Amino acid sequence: MKMSRLFAPTLREAPAEAEIASHKLLLRAGFIRRSTAGIYTYLPLGWRVIRKIEQIVREEMNAAGGQEIMLPVVQPAELWQATGRWELYGSEMFRLRDRHSREFCLGPTHEEIITELVKGDVHSYKQLPLLLYQIQNKYRDERRPRFGLMRGREFIMMDLYSFDRSPESARESYARMYTAYEAIFRRCGLSCRAVEADAGAIGGSGGTHEFMALAEAGEAEVVFCPDCAYAANTEKAECAPPPEAVPAADAAEAAPPRTEVATPGARTIEEVSALLGLPPERFLKTLVYKGDGQYLVVVLRGDRTANEVKINNCLGPFRDLRLADEDDLAALLPCGAGFAGPVGLPAARLAVDSEAAVPAAFVCGANRPDAHWRDVVPGRDFPLPLTADLRLARAGEPCPRCGAALGGARGIEVGQVFNLGQKYSEALSARFLNEDGKSQPFYMGCYGIGVSRAMAAAVEQRGDESGIIWPPAIAPYHCVVVPVNEKDPTVTAAAMTLYDKLWAAGVETVLDDRPERLGVKFKDADLIGFPLRLVVSAAGLAQGQIELKRRRTGDLEFIPLAEAVARVRLILEEN
Ligand SMILES: [Zn+2]
Repeated sequence: MKMSRLFAPTLREAPAEAEIASHKLLLRAGFIRRSTAGIYTYLPLGWRVIRKIEQIVREEMNAAGGQEIMLPVVQPAELWQATGRWELYGSEMFRLRDRHSREFCLGPTHEEIITELVKGDVHSYKQLPLLLYQIQNKYRDERRPRFGLMRGREFIMMDLYSFDRSPESARESYARMYTAYEAIFRRCGLSCRAVEADAGAIGGSGGTHEFMALAEAGEAEVVFCPDCAYAANTEKAECAPPPEAVPAADAAEAAPPRTEVATPGARTIEEVSALLGLPPERFLKTLVYKGDGQYLVVVLRGDRTANEVKINNCLGPFRDLRLADEDDLAALLPCGAGFAGPVGLPAARLAVDSEAAVPAAFVCGANRPDAHWRDVVPGRDFPLPLTADLRLARAGEPCPRCGAALGGARGIEVGQVFNLGQKYSEALSARFLNEDGKSQPFYMGCYGIGVSRAMAAAVEQRGDESGIIWPPAIAPYHCVVVPVNEKDPTVTAAAMTLYDKLWAAGVETVLDDRPERLGVKFKDADLIGFPLRLVVSAAGLAQGQIELKRRRTGDLEFIPLAEAVARVRLILEEN
């Protein structure tokens, strides 16, 4: 490819809406362009990266026994109504009607439609296990699409679905996919970590893991144990139960009866903490949620953060769990959220995090303006009808398995594997005849990889201030050849010959034949992120040499022109 012909419109400045490195760099380097919020066009460089990631995914899925198919994007509402997800998916689903007013959606995922397919054509245990996958656009009407390809409304995914005859066989399919995923991300040059996760809207009974590309820009937080194998998304991470022993000064019997203290205008934990000179962990935080029209009161220690996934799993599921707004509170707690506390609230609505249920003396809102209670003891001053793990885990807390202090990191979710059990096959009556001639529902698994998101994750992990640093396996091109003076016929002839030889040796190469200043060409080469740059100059040629630069390390060296192709191939193979 000649740079003068390549449609890669680079930009000096990133557009203002781009917040994170991958979004800025993919726009600036001419890989993608925004069409509308959360929807992008892949330009030639971007599409080459996508095709390479897809090819790695395809090879590994085929090697693991998968067969590629293509399911429809437009799906009828009836299938989704049968599993209850037409309602559950809520406003994230793109919905449409045909000319006969029949309802459809643009597929956000494909469990329903593939279960229906297999139900029609697979009837015997002899046809199992069956692993089918596709690589296709998915649609989710995100409330706030952002971060470029990271959280889009249209995105490219690989999704595989496994159908098995027994739970044991389903676990084997799961294990095979887990191993294949590790191979895929390693081959793509991504540094990933598998963590326990929450199944969310996909549901299912058999557990799930997310594959996280570790990066500061990641939206997900993970915790992992330095001593054992435990690693989990903070939405899922179990919090170790509170220690049995409570300091004597805080013990219930030692605590005096509760007393009211005036806390004028002090609404937040920080404000009351400063006013009373007590640390936030001595406070109770009272949060009012609304789920499907019901109110719930969740009590946590003042220094902790509520985990809405755990709250929903423990108390729901609700279609729309959210914090109550001012209008809701006006009816329930006229004092407002700042002075809310569990004392005197209806027990039926109380759920208390296990750390906030210990027999210690706490401070909490008095459900009256400008007042708090001191020496409130859970179980003595308010009932404990439901105690559970309801908070977000944090780095530094003890590992729920072994007790070592957990480490923390941020990650980008690039893949997720689910053991679904019989959730979908039961709902859609997808059954087969087992060895005993009895009809039973399939055991299913589903497995997704965000292909476009993996591209963004690679940029997050490898970019620098000059541009992108592609892992060679997914780089749009391996190498750029830059002639120093395109008016010098000796230089252009040598550059052209080198370019042809590289292609003949299987090295995907761009020849920067543009009549631009050398500085501009070098800047663009760094920005686009070619793993290798070869500079052909008259001075170098006089010595029989060319200059080679490795983008990742920045190392420069002169190498003999005659050995250039072999050297380039060797470096690419090593990476
Ligand atoms: Zn551990």
